[in-house]
Amino acid sequence: MLKTQEGFDYGFNPKVCFTCKGNCCIGESGYIWVNPKEITAIANFLNLEESLFVERYLFKESHMYSIKEIPHESGVACLFFDDQKRGCSIYEVRPSQCRTFPFWNYFKRHFDELEKECPGIVSLSH
Ligand code: SF4
Repeated sequence: MLKTQEGFDYGFNPKVCFTCKGNCCIGESGYIWVNPKEITAIANFLNLEESLFVERYLFKESHMYSIKEIPHESGVACLFFDDQKRGCSIYEVRPSQCRTFPFWNYFKRHFDELEKECPGIVSLSH
């Protein structure tokens, strides 16, 4: 079923995710923000002390934390991208930024970028 959201002139078909190589978690480098609640949830999920989790998996940018990336194919991948499964290894507790993809205000102004990246995107404007 096509997912839509008010204010966005495109929809998203999650069924197409199975045909994709995980483009929303790999490719060009970018921030993957995690808030304090999410840090606690992911650390618990991984059975790690929060301080150890932060040290191993996150970096600080100004007053916020983002997930580290590693080189992958011709770009980078989120540290939690599972290359075998071609998906997220912390899916149940993935941050809100990942849950709300592809309905980001950024993509309202960069639709071409989104359409190139995600095969599940359907334009509703024409
Ligand atoms: S946390 Fe999971 S869903 Fe989010 S970018 Fe990383 S691998 Fe992808």
